[in-house]
Amino acid sequence: MPNPPVILVTGASSGIGEATARLFGEEGYRVVLAARRLDRLEALSRAIQDRGGQALPVAADVSKLEDIQSLVGTALDEYGQIDVLFNNAGFGRLAWLENLDPVKDIEAQLQVNLIGVIQTTRAVLPHMIERRSGHIVNMGSLAGLVATPTYSIYAAGKFAVRGFSEALRREVGVFGIDVSVVYPGGVKTEFGEHTGAKLRTRTTTPASLKLAPEEVARAVFGVVRRPRRMVVLPWVMVLGVWANSLFPGLIDWLIERRFTRPERGL
Ligand code: NDP
Repeated sequence: MPNPPVILVTGASSGIGEATARLFGEEGYRVVLAARRLDRLEALSRAIQDRGGQALPVAADVSKLEDIQSLVGTALDEYGQIDVLFNNAGFGRLAWLENLDPVKDIEAQLQVNLIGVIQTTRAVLPHMIERRSGHIVNMGSLAGLVATPTYSIYAAGKFAVRGFSEALRREVGVFGIDVSVVYPGGVKTEFGEHTGAKLRTRTTTPASLKLAPEEVARAVFGVVRRPRRMVVLPWVMVLGVWANSLFPGLIDWLIERRFTRPERGL
């Protein structure tokens, strides 16, 4: 009987990462749970084990290289393999660029959302290359396909995750390693509690289009079962992505008129 496959999920202590860890645990994967809040990871690990799964909680801050290296080392020591890496940890600080703190909002955000993704991938890659198999799933965002005001740094990170992933796919596909990016629209998680967004117009994703974290988890599971370059969800958002690339001037005009001017009081 072969060993069950292993997924390493960063940002597993809440939201999309937690839902994805639960789902893969139920589907028979051994799940490495990584985030800073160890108490939450331990509770999730117990919940996965109560349902007959296997999980390994590891405290790790993906903005710290030494944490990433010890996370990957612990996962390999304990489980001997990593089949899927889900680079999901991230946060957004949303405000006009001139109001973002240069360190806490700008550097820290790119450190987690972009450099963390790159360094965790780099730490896992030699193992996947040696095994001639593996799947790296990176967490993008619609903000990584369509950039909107107050999302400048968040969009910069997520656009860069896309570029990183597309180049990497062409580097490592020859070793049987897949690289995918998941691009969700708004998801009901704790993400909104950390953005610091203060909007006058209360512009937000319509409730009917907001996803549950479990829906994103199913999309991640789907892309691992049937590898694809990218998944946009909900699918209707593909229309917005097309409109933005076909008519960028029109979208600039609409956003400026409907959002930027009223928000800036102009
Ligand atoms: P949550 O705030 O619920 O979860 C974020 C997770 O990231 C937490 O587990 C948090 O754990 C972890 N995290 C944050 N900073 C670090 C760090 N330095 N080191 C390790 N882990 C960290 O938000 P979501 O589930 O919504 O976000 C998950 C991903 O989905 C993010 O990349 C986000 O950009 C992306 N996304 C979210 C959308 C949304 O609308 N919610 C839409 C599109 C994409 P801890 O604090 O314990 O370290």
